[in-house]
Amino acid sequence: MPGQMMAFDAQHVARYEALFADPSPEAMYALEPHEFEWFVAYVFFCAGYQVEYVAEQRFPNGPGVDLNLYSNEPGQPIRARVEARRYKPSPDRLIDLRDIAAFMGMLEFAGGAPGYLITTSDFNANARVAARHENAEGNLRLVNGADLCRYVTYIRGSRIRDAQGNVRTPTPTGPDWLIGSPDHAPRSNAFTLTVTNNKGGVAKTTTTLNLGLALAQQGKRVLLVDLDGQGSLTADLPLPAPAEGARRRAQAPLPRRDAALHNYFSGEVALATLVQPTRFERVWLLPSHPELHRMDTGGGARPDAELAFMQALHSPEMVAPMIETSGEGQSAPFDWILIDTPSAQSFYTRIALAACDAAIIPINVEAFALNGISGAFETAKAMRALVTRGDDAVRMLGCVITRWKSTVNTRREEAILRAGLPQLPISLFRTVIPFDERIEQAHLAITAGGMRNLFGFAASTAALRYNELLDETLAKVGSR
Ligand code: ADP
Ligand code: MG
Repeated sequence: MPGQMMAFDAQHVARYEALFADPSPEAMYALEPHEFEWFVAYVFFCAGYQVEYVAEQRFPNGPGVDLNLYSNEPGQPIRARVEARRYKPSPDRLIDLRDIAAFMGMLEFAGGAPGYLITTSDFNANARVAARHENAEGNLRLVNGADLCRYVTYIRGSRIRDAQGNVRTPTPTGPDWLIGSPDHAPRSNAFTLTVTNNKGGVAKTTTTLNLGLALAQQGKRVLLVDLDGQGSLTADLPLPAPAEGARRRAQAPLPRRDAALHNYFSGEVALATLVQPTRFERVWLLPSHPELHRMDTGGGARPDAELAFMQALHSPEMVAPMIETSGEGQSAPFDWILIDTPSAQSFYTRIALAACDAAIIPINVEAFALNGISGAFETAKAMRALVTRGDDAVRMLGCVITRWKSTVNTRREEAILRAGLPQLPISLFRTVIPFDERIEQAHLAITAGGMRNLFGFAASTAALRYNELLDETLAKVGSR
């Protein structure tokens, strides 16, 4: 029977949140021993567990357990046991074989649930070997100081405010994905750019499309990924006209659009099988489907699914089906992958930020334009902690003002916006995309299949500006 579940008062929350914002083994080591236990408890609380503090109920012989973790439903058995060791983060203060053996003995005695042995320091080689060797049932999970920081960052950016006002992940999310994970999840050479903003109508899709088409015009092979269930990008990128398709490859059957990203998320097909050609040369698409809305699990943590998408998008199978111009029918890797995201705190935004090298945030000059942008940062940081042990952040290339109209109001709002930006660790692109109703016409023309390119509107300043935005983007990422 579980005892009293821990609750955290405002003072503790404030203190631990500061550590959440900038975790390091040294800063955790600086806590008092019992405070470190409380901090670890707070981390697991934010990670969606009910936490029972049992550090005082020690076993007579040997170390006990500090915390028992439960899911939110009452009456469920213990999900995991936690022992927190606040050791000096230094090579001469490592957890050794004896500690491992004692904790394993404890787990065996207590039965059932797996155990996390967590330290601000690290484990020595013997301890790791022993843990692997004796851990046939996979019950023992070792979390060192560096992994604990990664876990903290991941949880911090994966929380949602619940009905009780607590900011937590909706379902218990342990640090298991960290254990044995490589330092860097392997990535392809395709430069992957996510276009995101929780706000709708700020020109995410328009920006993704125009940057993609501009890159293709420069000879790059581009994959556009439509992670928005509304499917605007997919609508803008029809399949090649049949005659064209037949010319390309007589024996290649025209792919059908009824296979789309929802078939990947439901586990039916591999992601790479969904790559489809479009009416535009060198532009391919991973198409959206309305089903994506139904499958959205929201902004909560799903580390395994997030990692899986990132790996699938960067797998060697993810290639352009053929190079039309060569006539050889060979497949080739993409040079660029551009990801369009939905206007919501969404599972799809998370995976887009997990899979990308850099991100662009389109904004409109309007009141509260910058609201929610720090949320994108937290998510980006969490996703970075997921995919790499290094501390390189997702490169936030900047906010770009789109749909800009010069009125008294917008000029005033723009001044407010520019004044607010320095508080965020993000810059503003020099390029501003003006409001241009021909963009609307171009969408319609493309959807109807009549247009070869948005830039067919040579007189459109918006189209010209998108070329400039690409130049600026290329300069920021180091020309590719
Ligand atoms: P989001 O993807 O962020 O929801 P969209 O790219 O769909 O935004 O753009 C929202 C609407 O604004 C669309 O109708 C689009 O055609 C229009 N739009 C986008 N950029 C411009 C622009 N520069 N000038 C005029 N209309 C634009
Ligand atoms: Mg959109």
